[in-house]
Amino acid sequence: MQRPLLLNGFMATGKSTVGRWIADRKGWRLVDLDALIEQEAGMSIAALFSNRGEASFRALERSILERELTRALAQPTVMSLGGGALVDRMVRIAALERSVVVTLTASVETILSRSRAQDDAGAARPLLSGPDPRATIEELVARRRHAYQESHAQVPTDGRSVEEIAADVLAAHEQDAVTVAAGDQTYQVLIGPNTIAAHLPALLGDPSGTLLVTDENVSPLHGERARKPLAERRGPRAEIVLMPGEEHKNLAGLSRIYQTAFEGGIDRKATFVGLGGGVVTDMTGFAAATWVRGVRWIGLPTTLLSMVDASVGGKTAVDFETAKNSVGAFWQPAGVICDVETLLTETQRAYVGALSEVIKTALIGDATLLSLLEDQAEAVLKRDLPTMQAIVDRCVRVKARVVALDEREAGVRATLNFGHTIGHALESSAGYTGLTHGEAVSLGMVAALRLGVRKGHTPQALAERVLRLLQRFGLPHHLAESDLRKSTELLAHDKKRAGDSVSFVYARDVGDVFTERTRLTELEAVAPALADGRVDD
Ligand code: NAD
Repeated sequence: MQRPLLLNGFMATGKSTVGRWIADRKGWRLVDLDALIEQEAGMSIAALFSNRGEASFRALERSILERELTRALAQPTVMSLGGGALVDRMVRIAALERSVVVTLTASVETILSRSRAQDDAGAARPLLSGPDPRATIEELVARRRHAYQESHAQVPTDGRSVEEIAADVLAAHEQDAVTVAAGDQTYQVLIGPNTIAAHLPALLGDPSGTLLVTDENVSPLHGERARKPLAERRGPRAEIVLMPGEEHKNLAGLSRIYQTAFEGGIDRKATFVGLGGGVVTDMTGFAAATWVRGVRWIGLPTTLLSMVDASVGGKTAVDFETAKNSVGAFWQPAGVICDVETLLTETQRAYVGALSEVIKTALIGDATLLSLLEDQAEAVLKRDLPTMQAIVDRCVRVKARVVALDEREAGVRATLNFGHTIGHALESSAGYTGLTHGEAVSLGMVAALRLGVRKGHTPQALAERVLRLLQRFGLPHHLAESDLRKSTELLAHDKKRAGDSVSFVYARDVGDVFTERTRLTELEAVAPALADGRVDD
């Protein structure tokens, strides 16, 4: 079932007209949210505002929207919203996750003239009754700009026919991208097989030039996917093939990107394209953030880890000495395309390692994903394309929601670190050289679940459920006492970062995780008891 289509935008942008047109042509159910509210409240929106106040109107609007989104699971639906329906960010983020939100836009002149025509036809527009309607509209559109920018697409309506507008709206609906809401930096993540060929040309737009960054492994395997659309663009076209691996994610590698941009005549109107795993996309993003004070960039992740994790959040960086990701910036891409076909060539170890991040994501925010992993483990391991598309889509949606609610990591984003506190320590502790990030996270999750059980936060059944899944995917799940001890000692010694306690993430249930400061001394004391065979003591 396709996601419901929500038409968003300021008044008089044509939401009802376009909604009706689409519903008629497609045979979808039409919901006009304002009309429904009036019908259920037994009075006009204007009367609701003046009798009960805006807060009460918004609460009613929210509950009817929520109900209709649930109803839309059973029947294809197009819904036209009131102009302020998605102004509340929590409501907006939920709508973006569950539906496709398209904002219709119009100039102030068009809004004014359409509203006056509707006024003459008897539709009272209270906003326009003031002394300076133009100023009122400008002020309100500016105030609500994030409610309109944070959508799957913005479709202009000035001087265009309903057919033209509807065609753009339906194209956005068809794309079914995941929106990463970041104000005027909002972007889409497009996920599916062969999506680079399908979407890169439009996403590129018309830059003054392009710089492709990739690495020696990815270039021969998938370089052509990006090179072909790039060759069709005007202007200089530069390319750099980096040496692969984390050991090259440093200032020297970055310098090679700058050098290529410099020699290639890449200016501030150009677009950088990063094709590769998280190392390449992190480096491309940071180079884009800093080259001539910031240029546009597009991420084309080619590993499961970079698709489910690095594609969302705008974190870009290189390592410095032994400090991972220590030189970096938040710099959102213009868009990300996850072509799941590229995952077919990833090594099995890297692919399976990244499944630990997938399991983590399911645990923190998607019960359906957890069941999907359990029920279709075979297809997941065999890298069945539709299954990979489904898991990447679900992971990106969860991360997009978490990041949108907490762009600068003040709170809820910390839950993404489930399994990472001990995981990171295990990764860097001497006994675990050769452990990949994903494998370390797998062990970190085992430790976090067992600690949760000991502290009474995590039900034993949940811990066992996740453990079974890790086992099924062949992820490491045996915690050796000596290694645990080493990793918690390492954590305790890392006081500069951690202080006397660490913010530890615990799971109460699927979709119910929380952070709690946990004293390092306590962690050290219980560490041996978290090892295999010591769960219940
Ligand atoms: P990676 O980029 O080093 O890729 C792993 C290896 O796979 C490399 O040798 C690479 O050349 C190769 N490879 C990539 N795609 C391939 C493909 N399709 N087929 C065959 N080989 C392929 O590592 P990674 O696991 O993708 O990402 C890890 C990096 O991502 C770390 O540096 C980490 O810090 C970063 N990261 C960033 C974020 C973020 O929010 N920005 C989140 C998570 C991880």
